Amino acid sequence: MFKKILIANRGEIACRVVRAARELGIQTVAIHSEADKESMHVKLADESICVGPASASESYLNIPSIISAAEITGADAIHPGYGFLAENTYFAEVCESCGISFIGPKRSSIEKMGDKIAARQLMIKSKVPVVPGSEGPVSADDPEIFKLAQKIGYPVIVKATAGGGGKGMRIVVSEEALKNSIIMAQTEAKAAFGNPDVYMEKYIEEPHHIEFQILGDCKGKVVYLPERDCSIQRRHQKLVEESPSPFINDSLRKKMGKAAQSAAAAVGYITVGTVEFLVDKHLNFYFMEMNTRIQVEHPVTETITGIDLVKEQILLAAGERLSFDSSDIKINGHAIECRINAEDPDKDFIPSPGKIGHLYLPGGPGIRVDTHVYSGYTIPPFYDSLIAKIIAHGATREEAITRMSRALKETQIEGIKNTATLHAKIMENEFFHKGNVCTDFLPKYIFGK
Ligand code: ADP
Repeated sequence: MFKKILIANRGEIACRVVRAARELGIQTVAIHSEADKESMHVKLADESICVGPASASESYLNIPSIISAAEITGADAIHPGYGFLAENTYFAEVCESCGISFIGPKRSSIEKMGDKIAARQLMIKSKVPVVPGSEGPVSADDPEIFKLAQKIGYPVIVKATAGGGGKGMRIVVSEEALKNSIIMAQTEAKAAFGNPDVYMEKYIEEPHHIEFQILGDCKGKVVYLPERDCSIQRRHQKLVEESPSPFINDSLRKKMGKAAQSAAAAVGYITVGTVEFLVDKHLNFYFMEMNTRIQVEHPVTETITGIDLVKEQILLAAGERLSFDSSDIKINGHAIECRINAEDPDKDFIPSPGKIGHLYLPGGPGIRVDTHVYSGYTIPPFYDSLIAKIIAHGATREEAITRMSRALKETQIEGIKNTATLHAKIMENEFFHKGNVCTDFLPKYIFGK
């Protein structure tokens, strides 16, 4: 087992990793930028070390500095969290070559799933259904692209092969818009990922985003856990997640779970990961991508299964075997997570960094809060805007919604704009209560666009 884990991340996920490591009796090292000296993950970890200035490229993405920090502190493993270097194959390789365990899958698994076109091809080979689309990158001046779009039928969506965070995506409703949309998506992809390649697929109308948590061990065993429904999104980014999905039934759960298992097995997956699907209104499902890391929304799965995913991730990375099968898992009630972001929902979710004055976070039966913020904490403008995750558990979906509404009413965050009141509106929404929510829910039912 590892003796000391360096956490190459910040914010709530860094705190979450400290907690898991501490319960396993493992020491922790927090890294931080100059802007994050006062951050909670620094206070919680056993040791901390500054790795560079505020800008992420000079600190949380600074591989030489992070590796030196691990060597100086004698860490034998690195947990990358999510974002930053979590899906960076070069980083995983450097860790390996320095004799430091990377708490994640093998480099080859990250590589195979990191390029969305390559991942699609691999899924086709593994008989996992994918959205109909182009076989490779598309170019705005290739006449064939218009023929293909015609064949799959408008609307289509142009997406970055290196995509993430909903960036580099364009929905195209007609032939006239296709050329420009490809160019715009390429420009956005180049700026966000340094890679302008984009591909095209059918835009699934009224889609549900449903994903499966999988776990794999070094002996090739892969299990899947009950799904998460992440259909409530803003700009293709998740805002509310729940488990189980109110939209799918037991037989579809099994079918999709097995497809997720095949997807993970196709890349020899070790540790924890997520296979994302889109489900259309006829309950057809399509592989979208695999995230080769722990996800923001992992607590909803923990809540209904009783499995500590971060502890499992650490144990699996250390070579332990999986001690359960998918069929052993019982769904205990219902869980919902609301992402509280420091953003102004009335101004198109513009970030709202700054000093938090008075802060009161909710508690009581069925409520869990994962956060790194506290009264008097200044949210720096340099990183992502997630400040807290509220997770509500109930015996039924209705009870989970009631508890979440109650928790949101208790929440007091002064000094910055945030998404708590928007979440309260979602919890009250009649259509949300019915449980047939698609990815267009927010514009259609909350903002009335
Ligand atoms: P990213 O890696 O940027 O998160 P994903 O491929 O996971 O991108 O897609 C993010 C979201 O974009 C999905 O949850 C869904 O709302 C929307 N989306 C992506 N592809 C399609 C598609 N083919 N049809 C409809 N919506 C899509």
